[in-house]
Amino acid sequence: MNKTLEKDKNQIADLLKNATKQALDFIENIDNRFTTSQQTALKEIEKLAEQGVGTKQSLHDFIQKYDKILVASTGPRYWGFVTGGATPAALVGDWLASVYDQNTQSIKGDGDISAQIEFETIAMLLDLFDLPKDFLGGFVTGATMSNFTCLAVARQWLGKQKGFDIAKEGMRTGLSFFSATPHSSAIKSLSMLGVGSDNLVLVNTLDGSREAIDINNLETQIQMIDAKEFILISSAGTVNTVDFDDFKAIAKLREKHNFWWHIDAAFGGFAACSPKLNGLLEGWQDADSITIDCHKWLNVPYESAIYFIKEKHKLLQVATFQNSNAPYLGDPLKNFNYLNFLPENSRRLRALPAWFTLKAYGKEGYREIVERNVELTNSFAKLINNHEAFKVLAPIHLNTVCFTLSDENKDSGEFLSRLNKTRIVFMSPTVFAGRKAIRAAFVNWRTTQKDIELAFVAMLKSL
Ligand SMILES: *Cc1c(COP(=O)(O)O)cnc(C)c1O
Repeated sequence: MNKTLEKDKNQIADLLKNATKQALDFIENIDNRFTTSQQTALKEIEKLAEQGVGTKQSLHDFIQKYDKILVASTGPRYWGFVTGGATPAALVGDWLASVYDQNTQSIKGDGDISAQIEFETIAMLLDLFDLPKDFLGGFVTGATMSNFTCLAVARQWLGKQKGFDIAKEGMRTGLSFFSATPHSSAIKSLSMLGVGSDNLVLVNTLDGSREAIDINNLETQIQMIDAKEFILISSAGTVNTVDFDDFKAIAKLREKHNFWWHIDAAFGGFAACSPKLNGLLEGWQDADSITIDCHKWLNVPYESAIYFIKEKHKLLQVATFQNSNAPYLGDPLKNFNYLNFLPENSRRLRALPAWFTLKAYGKEGYREIVERNVELTNSFAKLINNHEAFKVLAPIHLNTVCFTLSDENKDSGEFLSRLNKTRIVFMSPTVFAGRKAIRAAFVNWRTTQKDIELAFVAMLKSL
């Protein structure tokens, strides 16, 4: 064995202690850590040395070189995009996932059965979201891959309706996809799936600063292209205004039309955690597939998201992702193996951080995080509305404030750049209703009223 490697093997306890020390240094100072990087580019790219320096020295070098450029994206005032943190339990689960280093595939058999943990986590998540048990679920790296997974099975379904097997025979033209305000990753998924993002039919949104689908216009467009069967990509939480499509109305459409119904609920799905908010999702249990991001509001580390696909579609799912050449005999759930159900083959025990955090904090824990984030959203919106320099642009539906400067002659982009440079808070730019705007999204478990106040002071200073 290589000498350095052997030395590391013998001092693993010390090495992990050093790593823990560094982790604590980062976590315990997260509230005060900068939110934008202090350095723009690496001064030099290292060459790979012939002889390694061992883990202790590598940790030292890592801290010297990188600690100062890594931002507090997991901290309480990182409100750009939709950025979750990591709860203590999630972090423990994430560390242990690396320690156990399973290749999570099967639930029974002679070898690995770590997928049992994933099954249990999926069942707990169905409980958390108050969804029925007739969904199969699994972990992928993010909501983009979840949208991809769901839409791949949807595409297989659509092919079947038309009498062909896309997984075997390849893509066909003439497939119809509809959506009103799809997330960019759903469009990217259509590109990756060979459908072509230009083939997505955009449906009108409802009047008045809304991003939710106009069902009447959907019906008109269905008739215009005479779509006998199609895929509908609906939203539980659009990015700019966190608007929700009307799921009861969409469910009702099924009496008239034959379609696969997908919901991108990457973060909006967490409204289900609260009895005050779950009305937004009424009817969503009838969807064929649902995307949920775990590295957002579940507050587990990157990379973690799940898909829920109705179990009745399991043969289509296997037809799409089947890895073995042997045709499946009988029920694919009998000899269940994740590699036949999703894009990846080898995969880590990605469910473990979610398992830990769900077990540690339960339904009540998530209700509190979600409700607190929503209260903070409203509190922040109120501060903005009460100040003459700012203007909230879109109605607050859940956990995001979309705002701009009241003075149309002032550039909100320049303001945002000054604000982010204060390093107190981080928000991201957007465009809403043709106007340059700023978004602040609240999904971090650490955020409190004190953070709202600190950020607002920084905003006033940046005017
Ligand atoms: C964040 C997000 C995605 C993409 O998620 P990734 O985790 O970045 O892949 C998709 N849809 C919605 C609504 C999102 O908010």
